[in-house]
Amino acid sequence: MKEHYDVVIIGGGIIGHAISYYLNESSVRAIVIEKHASGSKATKAAAGMLGVHTEHRASDAYHQFCQHSRDLYQDLSKELHELTAINIGLSPFGMMEIAMDETHKKELLEKKHAFTSLEWLEAKQVRGKIPALPPEFSGALFMTKDGHVEPAATCEALKRAALLYGGDLLENTNVLEVTKTEDIFTVQLENASVTASQVVAASGADSERWFKATGMDNPIVPVKGECFSIKPGKHYFKEALFFKDFYIVPKPDGRYIAGATSKPNDLSSDTMAGGLADLMHRVFAVFPDLKEEPMQEFWSGVRPGSADGLPIIGEHPTLTGFYFATGHYRNGILLAPATGQMIKDLITKQDVHQPFQELFSPERLDRKGASNYEYSS
Ligand SMILES: Cc1cc2nc3c(=O)[nH]c(=O)nc-3n(C[C@H](O)[C@H](O)[C@H](O)COP(=O)(O)OP(=O)(O)OC[C@H]3O[C@@H](n4cnc5c(N)ncnc54)[C@H](O)[C@@H]3O)c2cc1C
Repeated sequence: MKEHYDVVIIGGGIIGHAISYYLNESSVRAIVIEKHASGSKATKAAAGMLGVHTEHRASDAYHQFCQHSRDLYQDLSKELHELTAINIGLSPFGMMEIAMDETHKKELLEKKHAFTSLEWLEAKQVRGKIPALPPEFSGALFMTKDGHVEPAATCEALKRAALLYGGDLLENTNVLEVTKTEDIFTVQLENASVTASQVVAASGADSERWFKATGMDNPIVPVKGECFSIKPGKHYFKEALFFKDFYIVPKPDGRYIAGATSKPNDLSSDTMAGGLADLMHRVFAVFPDLKEEPMQEFWSGVRPGSADGLPIIGEHPTLTGFYFATGHYRNGILLAPATGQMIKDLITKQDVHQPFQELFSPERLDRKGASNYEYSS
């Protein structure tokens, strides 16, 4: 570790490592400081969907940011492979949102008309692709470009690529405090300190402390999610499938990940039997065949939600040089490339699309006041 860095990034999840990747690639010397092992919190728990259209009903600025981030993955996956030989598992097979009744079908058809790039598949066409689906569904919205990646591999590749570009990393180290004297930040660790010209808080569901420590109200809402995976002996489908209250993501190694529960304000790391039972009930009601397949693993993670449901990406309203990159809730894997690039652009004073700056600015939270986003349980 050096004594001074251009940028200290607090948190080594996918967001912190994406920021480090883009900064170090641009010759801005950044270090990631991570309390545990890199990528071991929300990032490791994620299914890795790049769900641009499952999250949106209309093409607004947030949708454009999601789409931009998904598109960045095309080149990024190649760059990361060239630099690190890690395959991040970018799926080319798209996602399908399955309509299980006529009301849902109507909603999905409205969504199809709101976007230009989506296809509607009639039930017969869907069955051609996924014979294991039950008879009572009425078609699917096919989001051909919205695939998925392997979150742990992506985080690891970003981490290694940032190091190759000259970045630094300190794991198993808790950042305790950040102070600023004149233009220099001092970042206090357990047994040492380091100085930086700029600091980025990318601490996921633990970001609350950095808002409070810098005089802001806490906008972070932790939302626990539980998942399980099975590894069948046979192949069921290759598209990620999205239903109203669960999803199944097929991975290249033969795993099928089913997720996820949603438990707002739960920061615990336990995977509860009841949560898994509810999830399994939903999955097996649609795919009874999967009941007879071998269970592989179960786990949980805490998503970093925010008071208004949007990520918080930008400079502190009054503490110049202190940035936030958090609150990505259930889209942090999707949004890591665009977030990394945006923080790099802000720090290096490049142009940043104004609507994105306004939408994600930490300042908006002070303007809006108390929480208004409903996290369903
Ligand atoms: C079950 C589940 C399924 C999901 N599925 C998807 C999906 O399909 N697609 C998608 O896009 N997103 C998904 N997500 C959301 C996604 O995982 C998160 O949005 C994303 O991982 C957030 O990344 P992060 O780097 O902000 O947080 P994290 O990965 O949690 O990283 C933050 C890091 O900061 C560290 N830290 C905190 N405080 C300190 C400190 N004081 N000092 C040092 N280090 C500190 C933590 O140890 C942690 O490693 C899912 C999440 C869950 C839980």
